[in-house]
Amino acid sequence: MAEGKIIKALSGFYYVLSEGKVFQCRGRGVFRKQKITPLVGDDVVFQATGETEGYIMEIRERKNWLVRPPIANVEQAILVFSAVEPDFSAKLLDRFLVLVESKQIRPIVVVNKMDLVDDQTKPTIEQYIRDYRQIGYDVIETSTVAKLGVEQLLSYLEGRVSVFAGQSGVGKSSLLNALRPDLQLKTNDISTHLGRGKHTTRHVELLEVGGGLVADTPGFSALELDELEIDDLPLYFPEFRERSDACKFRGCLHIAEPKCAVREAVEAGEIASYRYENYISFVEEMKERKSRY
Ligand code: GDP
Ligand code: ZN
Repeated sequence: MAEGKIIKALSGFYYVLSEGKVFQCRGRGVFRKQKITPLVGDDVVFQATGETEGYIMEIRERKNWLVRPPIANVEQAILVFSAVEPDFSAKLLDRFLVLVESKQIRPIVVVNKMDLVDDQTKPTIEQYIRDYRQIGYDVIETSTVAKLGVEQLLSYLEGRVSVFAGQSGVGKSSLLNALRPDLQLKTNDISTHLGRGKHTTRHVELLEVGGGLVADTPGFSALELDELEIDDLPLYFPEFRERSDACKFRGCLHIAEPKCAVREAVEAGEIASYRYENYISFVEEMKERKSRY
């Protein structure tokens, strides 16, 4: 019996990567017993029946999974933003960060198109980069045009399963092409799907890139916060989380409670005010959604 990871599912076959080799596998009853459908990303136990064939016997417990694209055991999300065209949006980044943190996926923030930053936009974008690094996030500045940061990004992929995420047009396909030039994914596609046209069958595949595995389809296409609990939201803001012990009330939501260490830190300029404002807007959005049902 061997262990491996499903990197592709197609026409009833599961392609299992194990020690550098890919086995075309069928499932054997186990899924009916376990009552789950195997997903790309699943870690499995399989029985090889030949050099490149086998049967999947068991699916290991999942650490997490995404619905769109359907993929299990995502360890890392590469959150791609562009400095300009489209403009950097801290609010959208914070939304991604909340979703990623809630699924215990490690976020890596990429600020692409740094070659387009001019003297006018430079101070703003540099301030954002400093702020997010200060919180503790890894922020990589890249440009696929100036070939900046590509090696650094590559080093983050090693040994992990990663998903790219980000608005259309920020440069996800271009970055993947820079990381693995043999792929030649189509860029500037109107669909958000990396490399494939909109009308072809949607199936996600994990590609070997930089000693790691990367989904060929961007993750988190739906960015609703409806799976989350308001009480948990402060946990997904690291700079709030680390100060909340100093709040007067346990379970302080940092909204209107007296002696709130988070609000004090915002007033003292130790927490970026836009982060706090985005947090409040997420709380309000979640409250509104709750009241509607
Ligand atoms: P995606 O929708 O996120 O996959 O974005 P694409 O990779 O298709 O890129 C969208 C557009 O931005 C294309 O015209 C790319 O050529 C361009 N682009 C991507 N990366 C960069 C970059 O670093 N600098 C500049 N100036 N343009 C870029
Ligand atoms: Zn508080």
